Amino acid sequence: MSAGLGPKALFSLVFALLFAFLEPASAQGPQGESLNGDRMYAIVEELAKISGSGLDSGIRVNERAQKAAEFIMRQFQEAGLENVRMESFEMMRWWPVEWKVSISAPEGQKVIPSFPFWYTQGTPGGEIQAELVYVGYGTPGEFGDIDVKGKVVLVAMRRFLHFRESHRFTQAYETAVKKGASAVILGDTLIDSPSGRFLGLPNAIAPIPCLSIGKSSFEQLLNSLSKGKSVKVTLNLKVETGAWKGTNVLGELAGNGEVDEIIVVGGHYDTWFTGANDNCSGVAGLIQLARYYSKTPKSSRNRNMIFVALFGHEFRDFGHRHFVARYKDSLDKIALFLDCDHWGAKGYEDFDGVIRETGYPDKQGIFTTNPLLFSLSKALMVKYGLLPAFYWEGEILADMREFHASGIPVFGIGAVHPFYHTPLDTPHKVSPRILEAQASVYRDIIDWVHSTPQRFVISTDKNPKRTPPNEPPREAHFVLLPEAPVVGSPIWVYLGFAYDDHVLLSSDITWDFGDGTTAKGPIAAHAYESPGVYKVTMTVGDIHGAKAVASKEVQVRAP
Ligand SMILES: [Zn+2]
Repeated sequence: MSAGLGPKALFSLVFALLFAFLEPASAQGPQGESLNGDRMYAIVEELAKISGSGLDSGIRVNERAQKAAEFIMRQFQEAGLENVRMESFEMMRWWPVEWKVSISAPEGQKVIPSFPFWYTQGTPGGEIQAELVYVGYGTPGEFGDIDVKGKVVLVAMRRFLHFRESHRFTQAYETAVKKGASAVILGDTLIDSPSGRFLGLPNAIAPIPCLSIGKSSFEQLLNSLSKGKSVKVTLNLKVETGAWKGTNVLGELAGNGEVDEIIVVGGHYDTWFTGANDNCSGVAGLIQLARYYSKTPKSSRNRNMIFVALFGHEFRDFGHRHFVARYKDSLDKIALFLDCDHWGAKGYEDFDGVIRETGYPDKQGIFTTNPLLFSLSKALMVKYGLLPAFYWEGEILADMREFHASGIPVFGIGAVHPFYHTPLDTPHKVSPRILEAQASVYRDIIDWVHSTPQRFVISTDKNPKRTPPNEPPREAHFVLLPEAPVVGSPIWVYLGFAYDDHVLLSSDITWDFGDGTTAKGPIAAHAYESPGVYKVTMTVGDIHGAKAVASKEVQVRAP
């Protein structure tokens, strides 16, 4: 911790601030601007209209993106933001011109609804026809000895928390490539629709085509395969690549000059398909917060605020990277980036293969690098009825990645229902009441950040990318077994625990056994050659290279 605050003083300050705050302002702003869920919902509907519906819909690298940017710009202006502007940047456009998956059936070729993974090669020579092989979830064990060379590999997908594949799909894809497959089809085991996503191979076009299909198509393919016959699939994917101009939309609110810091509120406005929850809802929240703060008296805003609708999240965070590059000289002044993504999701769960509405908000995740904001947001979520919540420890998702990578404190809560990234993500699965609750949490957090002293949020943050301040790990401790070893028989040492001011200890652990031998790693073994007293020393480092040392004496007896 910096600024010479002892742990006790800091502790009391933190709690004084937390409790001073937990009796928050009323639901209405000082001049009557409320966080109106119905108005946010109306914006969700308007943006969803721009997105369109079905597999061809979506605010992607297309003309709909331009329309959406203009819509958001007007909303920011009407909200009363200052300096409203568009900022454009070059980005790579990958676009599926046509795609088709079909299988031979007794009545002829049968087309299966599909959607291509972005950033893959098209099918060479127009189309490919090949035998289909099933590899389960595509783990290395399931691939086993199956011959997939020249074939189309069918992989099953299960989601957990409604958005994460239950296995490493990228790994399955890479295994298929390595083993010479000609294409991959990913079958959803829960949602009866193809889904939109990209292959996360950094900055490269993935070498073979990959398409997603929905649950009933997947079951149909499995059914054909189970009859023991060879199933032939025909795949056609034609893609275009080129340059494209992406656009972020920004507006500002100057603070009262009290604290020279910036609060950035942002969220992506690109969508795969209709995208009501991902992310028309977050943009609606962003616009509502802009309206709210432009109506609060400037005297109450101790920091400057930037509101930014980001473009290109679904296609590798193009707008996010542009923002941090363009404002690189001001990044150190950003007290917090608040991500508005995945707002307002009604709860849906799978009951024995049927998805039903639960009547509750969907599970909300809290993603933040700041432990104080974590505690505060948990309390606020309970207060506004947003339970149940889970905490995604150590991983930063959604629009936060690039900001996090730049060392900026980040915060976001959000929930995805099972229809995430499919054309079934439509407005009626978003609730005005949940939008309002989510906006209330963000408003209270922004007010709290405004009320803290300069550098407070930044210096209590745990973003490991921010250096310094850094203290070495403390209270490093290790275990040595057995405690009274004999010459020639092994002893084991392993890291017990250590605290660190940053989140991560590295695996940079070295051992010195005191007899001229050393070892590396969290666990090590050694056998002494002669009796005596030896000093065993462990050195443990964190990801910044700060180190702590612990040692123990060990008496080694003759056999
Ligand atoms: Zn999103």
